[in-house]
Amino acid sequence: MAAPTFDVFSNFQNIINGQLSDTAEKRHGINPATGEPNPEVPVSTREDVDNAVNAAQEAFITWSDTPFPERQKVVLAFADEYEKHADEFIKLLVQEQGKPLFLATMEVHGSVNYLRETTTLAESLKDQVLQEDDSKRTLLRYTPIGVGVSIIPWNFPISIFCQKLAPAVLTGNTVILKPSPYTPYTALKLGELAQGFFPKGVVQVLSGDEGLGPLLTAHPGVDKISFTGSSATGRKVMEAASKGLKRVTLELGGKDAAIICKDIDIEAVAAKVATFAFINSGQICTAIKRVYVHEAIYEQFLSAAAAFTKNIAIGPGDQEGVFMGPVQNSMQFDKVKTFFAEVGEGDLARTNGGICSDKPGFFIKPTIIDRPDEKSRIATEEPFGPIVPFMSWSEEKDVIGRANSTRMGLGASVWSNDLEEATRIAGKLQAGSVWVNSHLDLDPKVPFGGHKDSGIGTESGVEGLKGWCNVQSLFLKK
Ligand code: NAD
Repeated sequence: MAAPTFDVFSNFQNIINGQLSDTAEKRHGINPATGEPNPEVPVSTREDVDNAVNAAQEAFITWSDTPFPERQKVVLAFADEYEKHADEFIKLLVQEQGKPLFLATMEVHGSVNYLRETTTLAESLKDQVLQEDDSKRTLLRYTPIGVGVSIIPWNFPISIFCQKLAPAVLTGNTVILKPSPYTPYTALKLGELAQGFFPKGVVQVLSGDEGLGPLLTAHPGVDKISFTGSSATGRKVMEAASKGLKRVTLELGGKDAAIICKDIDIEAVAAKVATFAFINSGQICTAIKRVYVHEAIYEQFLSAAAAFTKNIAIGPGDQEGVFMGPVQNSMQFDKVKTFFAEVGEGDLARTNGGICSDKPGFFIKPTIIDRPDEKSRIATEEPFGPIVPFMSWSEEKDVIGRANSTRMGLGASVWSNDLEEATRIAGKLQAGSVWVNSHLDLDPKVPFGGHKDSGIGTESGVEGLKGWCNVQSLFLKK
């Protein structure tokens, strides 16, 4: 498949064994800003899954034996070609996902960077000598697992595609990527573009309806599942994986707390906290989903955050200057609306929040809830939309306990000019990523994963690469 004929905007087909592959049945996503249908995409069958798994098994024989520098070259060449099409991918991402241009631009260029940076990590997985003397040599080796399946949600369809692709193939695995039925477009085109660089069967992409994930996770030819999505689906994936003792990495939901201490610049921190709560319309696993503000500054902080939020520009993602696009799909729109059932007039007035009824797409205005009942759904569940509760605290031990009083453990942040205080609190938070005076910072070289019900295993960094490897001890008698 020659790269020069590549067209991002038409012909969305599966990628199986190096070929574009169509299906008899079709479906389509919806542009969330307009409610209009996006182009048709395949609905994969059991036979498509069998064909992809067979091709991945065949390709694994050669790819797993390909020296690392060659695998690295292939990933870098793919990243270069993808970057040449960045503007087209940004446009397609806005059309399928709804996010604003600035964020789609960050996602596309960030994922190019992710591919490149990950190639610099795999050197750390070279054989290590654990013991050596006159009679023996013992090596620790990281060997590829086999055929991987990567399951992707709809909030960051490109970033998560690349976060799953790079570590899988650099460590010598072959991978079948399955995008969300809501956002299949950019994944199919990235898979198509990849065929100009990877040997056939190394990178394959299957689109389908909600029946496709279970077909893949149950398949006896699959050795590893890397899943990103909700904790509820994560449990089903783990159950399916247990039958074949498949390896799993689960990146699941979050209910990130931000703890605001009294010694801060109120205006500046309030703006940042609102940004990290509402960016991507709140549809980020590590968005701020609970805000605990010290009671000494609570009213001032709430007012500053509300004033900032009132000025957030909402609209279709392709309009210049928009900060917040629509919620991605009707299922999520309906789900987020249920959280508004508990919201009073005062809460809506504070930020001019609420559901937009004057726009055709799935628009919800950012809304801050002032001190809800701490057992309420908005205080305890993940809405995955632009609605966030603020609560007050006075005792450090108490706020740490409240921040930790959830089964979620993805991210958390502490905001203070007193770094000793902030570091002390941060060290007691039960979460996979903890930030001081920031939130949401991620880096391809730093592991990312959830504690408790927010996940199992990590992605990114050397630890993420190890998730795609078996550990082998090699005993050599001299
Ligand atoms: P979801 O769990 O509904 O779907 C995720 C993916 O799983 C989709 O591709 C879907 O088609 C597939 N799927 C559905 N049922 C399946 C099954 N039984 N077996 C296998 N695959 C199945 O999640 P979503 O609504 O797409 O995404 C939102 C959730 O994802 C939120 O909870 C969010 O916090 C979480 N998330 C987590 C991270 C992270 O890195 N921790 C990142 C992004 C999103």
